[in-house]
Amino acid sequence: MAQRDTKREILISSVIIILAFMILSLPTPAAAQEKPQDKPYLDIVGRLSALGLQDEGAYEILRKLTSVGPRLTGSPGAAAGVELMRQVMQDLGFDNVHIEPVTVNRWVRGGTEKARIIGSTIVGNIPLMICALGGSIGTPELGVTAPMVEVRSFQELRALGEGVRNRIVFFNRPMDRKLIQTFGAYGSAADQRVRGASEAAKLGALAVLVRSLTLRIDDFPHTGLLEYDPAAPKIPAAAVSTAGAEFLSALLRKEPDVRVQLELSCKNLAPVPSANVVGEIRGSERPDEIILVGGHLDSWDLAVGAHDDGAGCANAVEALRLIKTAGLKPRRTIRAVMFMDEEFGGTGGRFYAMDERRKGEKHLAAIELDSGGFLPIAVGGGKPEVFEKLKKWEYVFKPLGITMMRPGGGGVDVAPLAAQGTALLGISPDSQRYFDVHHSGLDILESVHPRELELGAISLAIYAYILAQEGI
Ligand SMILES: [Zn+2]
Repeated sequence: MAQRDTKREILISSVIIILAFMILSLPTPAAAQEKPQDKPYLDIVGRLSALGLQDEGAYEILRKLTSVGPRLTGSPGAAAGVELMRQVMQDLGFDNVHIEPVTVNRWVRGGTEKARIIGSTIVGNIPLMICALGGSIGTPELGVTAPMVEVRSFQELRALGEGVRNRIVFFNRPMDRKLIQTFGAYGSAADQRVRGASEAAKLGALAVLVRSLTLRIDDFPHTGLLEYDPAAPKIPAAAVSTAGAEFLSALLRKEPDVRVQLELSCKNLAPVPSANVVGEIRGSERPDEIILVGGHLDSWDLAVGAHDDGAGCANAVEALRLIKTAGLKPRRTIRAVMFMDEEFGGTGGRFYAMDERRKGEKHLAAIELDSGGFLPIAVGGGKPEVFEKLKKWEYVFKPLGITMMRPGGGGVDVAPLAAQGTALLGISPDSQRYFDVHHSGLDILESVHPRELELGAISLAIYAYILAQEGI
């Protein structure tokens, strides 16, 4: 009796479980409206992301690239990076792997780079953490020693007039912390680094110190390019760490005549030959129509440029590797280009657009990744009219956690292609940590997360493949 009851109970619970299963398996109203043929690329999204996340191939490529050390434009490290990436793409079996010559400017930091507060009645002699700005001339051998003058804008500088003469100008406007997008915050302060030296020189300054462009307060100086105005005398320029800038500013309030000594041995040398590196998966139907993916191969010299822009290069190569390994045969050519010399003026991008090889090629779209190897959060669909055509692909990015497709995209290296009618698209990673490391000694391999980096490569592979299949 007891046994029969148990059997009955088991039977009833089995029926309930089967019924529950059937109910759960019924299509929901929303799913019932969506047919698989409405989302033809979801299967490929699943395959490419599984493959990428399993292999973490982008990180392995980045590990190899950063193993050559910093890749400052025109340096032996940059030349080693060119050869390495050519070899990596050759070994992966890409088509048409080659280098394209570029002539680049060469600047060297030299062995001496120091600044110190001297003769302060409050703190005595204290060193400051600095680095020369890219392109800066050096100081005389004994350095420049002068009282400082702190300003936060060019307007403030000009208002000082003769008060600037024979001083070292200290530009100390911080990046705007209130902005959500850190690229906007960078833009709010970068004019001091780019044009500060010439603006100060016009008023008779001897040198400039510029607050590093980062939101962190630490002792790592951040370099970056300056531009000398041909109409102004050239004076030496260096970035000071944010902690140093805060210290100096506080000291100047108490001791306005305090002096700083700056010694730099950096210099500009004659231009040298270098190269862009190219590899591709040739299109099966329209090989002369090209979807370009890329980044810049050169870096600053204070670290290996893992985020800027080793990540962009690694993701471009990994995107092609994923497509090839998955056995996909794109109708149009998907090409990876690693540009030389983004940081010193973008000559690689200009040479690429002008190269003889471009005749007979049509670049439909270009996606340059140059915002760090962080988690991708948005996809750029180009100009508003192009975006209107591309936004139907938003669904492919949702499984990757990218819920935002918006107009926008581009980059220094692909900008010259716009004249040919190329759509400049983009993939934007989370920007909150980028300027912690950007152009500083902190831009090392360990600052990149393998899965975040790989999701960038997967997003790029999917975007490039759909564009190669569907066009714009
Ligand atoms: Zn960059």
